[in-house]
Amino acid sequence: MIPHALLEIAAAHQPEWSTPGELAAVRNELLGRPPLVDAHSCHALAGELEFVARGEAVVIQAGDCAELFSDSERHRVQAKASQLQHLCDTAEFAGIPAVRIGRFAGQFAKPRSCATETLPDGTEIPVYRGDAVNGLNPTATARRADPARMLTAYDLAASGLDALFMRQLLLSEGDSGISSMLAPTYISHEALLLDFERALLRPDPARGGTYASSAHMVWIGERTRQLDHAHLALAEQINNPVGVKIGPTATPEELIAIVDRLATGHRRGRLTLIIRMGAEKIADRLPALVAALGTRAGEVAWLSDPMHGNTKKTVTGQKTRVVTEIQDEIGHFCRILREQRVHPGGLHLEVSPDPVTECVDTTADLTGSLDFDRYESACDPRLNPIQAQQVVRHFTRLL
Ligand code: PEP
Ligand code: MN
Repeated sequence: MIPHALLEIAAAHQPEWSTPGELAAVRNELLGRPPLVDAHSCHALAGELEFVARGEAVVIQAGDCAELFSDSERHRVQAKASQLQHLCDTAEFAGIPAVRIGRFAGQFAKPRSCATETLPDGTEIPVYRGDAVNGLNPTATARRADPARMLTAYDLAASGLDALFMRQLLLSEGDSGISSMLAPTYISHEALLLDFERALLRPDPARGGTYASSAHMVWIGERTRQLDHAHLALAEQINNPVGVKIGPTATPEELIAIVDRLATGHRRGRLTLIIRMGAEKIADRLPALVAALGTRAGEVAWLSDPMHGNTKKTVTGQKTRVVTEIQDEIGHFCRILREQRVHPGGLHLEVSPDPVTECVDTTADLTGSLDFDRYESACDPRLNPIQAQQVVRHFTRLL
């Protein structure tokens, strides 16, 4: 099913599995399992994203940076979906339909800037790469890359989808006539782990070809979007809606090549460009990229990820993000796209349904003595429910 050549292409940020023999068994097991999502619902999402590309809807894509297995039980997935619904309701009150895409029920793999980390006692251990690869606990044993974790990732994505289905059923029974209650919740994650994603490729009965059955939408991260690498080839091979993160170093030539390869021959909105440049760089970098695409800019959905370009450290060394800077990036994003008559199609956010203290409200908080008493993220700092609402409200006011 997978062209042999694809297996030879360079791939960044792949784990060194501790038991290669077991990897083959896990891959075989996954190959024999049913698809997590069906091709029909992937196409349904593609239809909704076409409205986004046309300027008639927005997307809110939100959830954890890195989901923990221990935080992925059914009731937790439902809590994440409820938060996403509230964010979408906020957008819809502003008068535009909102497509809800969870960054959950499968967001279990992380690219990391360093392969190892050094503990306070000087020991060097492998870095945490997401629960589908290793454990968060800072010990050499927990950090072994264990292929069997991919089976747990599959199982929890499956039970998460069941939980979303149950939630949908309960809401439709109690439907009070608010149609947004019934809007589907789609799931998405970064298609990082090639061993996992390739084993879940399935034939697409509706359109022919292949689709990724691991989620309705997958995206390729900023660190793995090299044109000659395996992740882009994977995205090219599937029919699902796909996203690509675009950071401040992306060139117009790269962007044109990405659009050529991932949008051509598909319906409008098949490709989502997720812009994550940082409040300071976006005004300098984004205009030339949009201009370089010319009329093709209208073929894709444009989202702002205002989190990943705005990661800061407090004076005490705590990794955080500042809500006002997040809003600044969104402001620039909307203005720049508007100036080129392109629709600012939505937000990609890292959020928690819990009252966490991971992001701060203003830059003054970076130097103060804030108490991060609920810093629970396994990876990047997330907006708490109030901060997330503020950010979405800020976006909708700019529409
Ligand atoms: C992420 O979305 O958590 C991530 C790693 O983002 P990026 O690829 O934009 O750096
Ligand atoms: Mn992140």
